[in-house]
Amino acid sequence: MNDDSSDLFGAESHPPAVPVLVPLPAPTAYSYRIPDGMTSIAPGSIVQVPLGPRQVVGVVWDEADGPAVDPKKLRSITKVFDCPPLDKDMRSFLDWVSAYTLSPPGLVTRMSLRAPAAFDPEPMIEGLRFAGVEPEKLTPARRKVLELAGDGLSWTRGGLANAAGVSLSVVDGLTKHGVFETVFLPPPPLVAKPDPDFAPARLQGPQLDAAKEICEESIADTFSVTVIDGVTGSGKTEVYFEAIAETLRRGKQVLILLPEIALTADFLERFQDRFGAKPGEWHSDLATRTREKVWRQVSTGEIRVVAGARSALFLPFEDLGLIIVDEEHDPAYKQEDRVFYNARDMAVVRARIAGFPVILVSATPSVETQVNCLNGRYRRVHLPTRFADAALPDLHLVDMRRHPPERGGFLSPILVKAVGKAVERGEQALLFLNRRGYAPLTLCRVCGHRFQCPQCSSWLVEHRFRTQIQCHQCGYAEPTPDSCPECGTLDHLVACGPGVERIAEEVEKHFPDARTIVLSSDLGGVKRLRLEFEAITKGQADIVIGTQLVAKGHNFPLMTLVGIVDADIGLANGDPRAAERTYQLLSQVTGRAGRTGRKSHGLLQTFQPQHPVMQALVLGDGEAFYDREIHERERANLPPYGRLASIIVSADNRADAETHARQLRQSAPVVSGIAILGPAEAPLALIRGRHRFRLLIHGRRNSDMQSFLKVMLANGPKERRSINVQVDIDPQSFL
Ligand code: ADP
Ligand code: ZN
Repeated sequence: MNDDSSDLFGAESHPPAVPVLVPLPAPTAYSYRIPDGMTSIAPGSIVQVPLGPRQVVGVVWDEADGPAVDPKKLRSITKVFDCPPLDKDMRSFLDWVSAYTLSPPGLVTRMSLRAPAAFDPEPMIEGLRFAGVEPEKLTPARRKVLELAGDGLSWTRGGLANAAGVSLSVVDGLTKHGVFETVFLPPPPLVAKPDPDFAPARLQGPQLDAAKEICEESIADTFSVTVIDGVTGSGKTEVYFEAIAETLRRGKQVLILLPEIALTADFLERFQDRFGAKPGEWHSDLATRTREKVWRQVSTGEIRVVAGARSALFLPFEDLGLIIVDEEHDPAYKQEDRVFYNARDMAVVRARIAGFPVILVSATPSVETQVNCLNGRYRRVHLPTRFADAALPDLHLVDMRRHPPERGGFLSPILVKAVGKAVERGEQALLFLNRRGYAPLTLCRVCGHRFQCPQCSSWLVEHRFRTQIQCHQCGYAEPTPDSCPECGTLDHLVACGPGVERIAEEVEKHFPDARTIVLSSDLGGVKRLRLEFEAITKGQADIVIGTQLVAKGHNFPLMTLVGIVDADIGLANGDPRAAERTYQLLSQVTGRAGRTGRKSHGLLQTFQPQHPVMQALVLGDGEAFYDREIHERERANLPPYGRLASIIVSADNRADAETHARQLRQSAPVVSGIAILGPAEAPLALIRGRHRFRLLIHGRRNSDMQSFLKVMLANGPKERRSINVQVDIDPQSFL
């Protein structure tokens, strides 16, 4: 086709222009001419297009009805990548996420394209092959090489030398004599293919029924949602491994979503033990090269199973047939940046669109998921007891009003004594406090000055290990001052409240000879943390003091005591999920104890021993707790019985943010069943120098929130440069 083939313009069979979604916050795709020499280009193709002075990567989208544009006026696609197109289901999914989250489709699609160098095939690698002529001189080393390569299969130079146990020069010598010819080989796969029958576990009791139910009824090529709900250590992972095996036998790919995958080396090894190969990994700590290989090999189908963080949901699988969402209640599934989405919910959407099953897994399923089970939308499979002889820890409350700590301390004598006993027995104790650093607030004893972040409305947190005071909102840090900046008094700073570092100090005082490890995300990268987890597993620590990092997935065989330093921490904020979250987190943390059969205990320090969360935990009565929570939500029309959206308006100055938020509210349509609360200053009123106001939109279950918000935003004030408006559908954070 040449440029002035005007007869083609308007001809239905050869659309000369196609819509291309570019990675921009534009509301729709842009039109581009298909490259000269091509008559059509498949929707989903990944292409390069000019955009202003730049070249960007985009995706050919589906034809929308719109006015035809004269292709002569359009710029042409510059390159079509040699890469499998995003299939129809994937495109529908991206459109759906865009419409639901009210995020521009280009920004949603960009989440599927996070591996720029992977759109071209991986380069072939050089190899060699026996050319059919034996060398004149056959040394023993040469013989070893020929024994392997003599059958004419291709090898890499290093691979052959290695396998034959000879030096590279032996192989090179043979090549020089014309014994080998050069060939090009496809690059090796990143991970081997998992074998569904490699080492199946012998499931027992309720595990058997659960696996049977899942494999027989759920693993079909149709959409279904199954919830595996069972206490920590009941074998949920073993059960869903069976579902994975079944899906692999059917020749489909599997995605396992995990919160904070980067830290669960445990999990990867366990998968390998079961399937004989590791899964492909996907998370933000991957090296760029590896990331690109994973993306590519997922799209070509070479990688059969991916274990990944929430963003793995946007990988372009060749033929996905099952998604597992492990720890489905975990707040880490919610992304609160650019595109605000909940990966658990979107996993269900992706499965529904493409017609395959999804399995949600948790010891403490979210209220939303519980309600979906109750009303029959999701199937529930229950594992009531721990596997084998492992018993759940015995949980007790420590009433801090009756058993206060020593002056200046935070550990009740009861907890200190229990830690001492565990250490004496050669077992491990975990002290859990979800607060990084030394103290959450520092002030001057003389003038009362409080150290606050210059850019945020949050207090600076003292970190003694680093001798810094830090802002946990924006990362601002300064060296811990010697004197008060207000009154100048030297050495008069006092730390208020505990962080893990301060607990470590207290532990040191009580147990000077114990080996302690502090686990907190600011104390080192993934590598260091993995080493520390390993050390704990091997018994190289007596007392572990940790933040919620320790709550997830690790099996510490020697751990028999878990002490919760402040069980009340999460209860006192305006979050409607505060009780649920506290229950989930504390169940998970206390569930770290006694995973291998030793008798184990949990002690929860609280000032509110009568609180329903505390009662549910010690009585082991999750059922009653959830019933109450569900009832409360229903009464207050809160999710899932009602709908919520939040809008955060931020600006460089307070008045601008407030005015804009007010005008936004005034531009909302009047719709029965939808109410707007606010604007009010957000609890975090200032972040990185930006003032924040919040509107909360509360609707009935069947309200069309998206249409409501669209009208409101369209009628609202023009967005000015300094103003930013963030829409969060189904918000998890109320800060
Ligand atoms: P969950 O996922 O519910 O926390 P896991 O699947 O991790 O439970 O099981 C807890 C521990 O028990 C693991 O170490 C696991 O290997 C072991 N386990 C569970 N079921 C079996 C089984 N049927 N055979 C052998 N080991 C099992
Ligand atoms: Zn800050």
